[in-house]
Amino acid sequence: MRWMKAVGACALMVTVAACSTSPTGRSQMLLLDEQQLSQMGAQAFDQYQQELPTVSGRQLEYVQCVTRNVVQALPEDQRNQNWQVKVFESEDANAFALPGGYVGVNTGLLDVATNQDQLATVIGHEIGHVLAHHANERASTESATQLGMSVVGTALGSQGVTGSDQLMAAMGMGAQYGILLPFSRSHESEADTIGLQLMADAGFDPRASVQLWQNMSAAGGGQPPEWMSTHPAHGNRIAGLEAGMNDAMARYEQAQARGLTPSCKAP
Ligand SMILES: [Zn+2]
Repeated sequence: MRWMKAVGACALMVTVAACSTSPTGRSQMLLLDEQQLSQMGAQAFDQYQQELPTVSGRQLEYVQCVTRNVVQALPEDQRNQNWQVKVFESEDANAFALPGGYVGVNTGLLDVATNQDQLATVIGHEIGHVLAHHANERASTESATQLGMSVVGTALGSQGVTGSDQLMAAMGMGAQYGILLPFSRSHESEADTIGLQLMADAGFDPRASVQLWQNMSAAGGGQPPEWMSTHPAHGNRIAGLEAGMNDAMARYEQAQARGLTPSCKAP
C-alpha cells in the first residue's frame, strides 16, 4: 500500500526520467521511452489496417491536407516526423493519432466533420493526446498499479534493471492494442485544450470546434460513438472550448497574418 501511494504521487522514481510535466502543466508518470511508444504505435497502425479496408482518392487527399497543415503547427521534433495518414472504410465517426506519427480517420467521421476546420478540430485533438504522452501515462499508471509491488521491488532491489524493460516484459504482446483504448476525462479535456491551440496555430478557425462537437453529439443520438464514451459531458466540453476561445482566436489571427490559410477541399 505504501508503495502504491508513492507511485500514484509520482514521488518514487523508478527511473529518473519517470516524472514529467504535460503541455498544460500537469504532473505525469511516464515509464516507457519514446522508442517503445513509437513501436507500439506502428504495431497498432498495422493492426488497424488489417482489420479495416482503407480508401484512397479525394477522401485521403483531404484528410492528408488537413493533417499536413496541423502538423506544421507542432513542435519541431514532432513536426519533422514522417506522419502517415490512412482513411478507413467504417461508419463509426472515429479517428485516432498514435505515437510515432500515425493518423487514422474513418469515412464516417467525414459525415460529421463537415468542413476542414471541423476536421482539424478532431485531428488537433487526437494529435493533442500524442503531444501530451497520454498513451504512455495510461500504460505507466495501469501497469504500475497492476504490478505495483513486483516492479517497484525489482527496480529498487537490483542495479541496472530499468523499470521500462520490466514493464514492457510484463505487459507482453497485448501492449500495442492498449494504446487504442479510450482515454480518461482529464486526458480528453487536455487534448481539447491542446487541439484548439494547434488548429488555431495552423490557421484553422477555432470557432468550428464548438460546431463539430455539436454535430458529434447530434449524430450520436442516444448512443455516442465508442471513442466518445469517456469524453467529457457535452456541456463541459463546450464550456472548456469557450474558455480557451479568446486565446485561440488570437492565435488564429496571428496564423492568418503569417499567411497560414489552409484550403483543403472536402470530397
Ligand atoms: Zn480524445
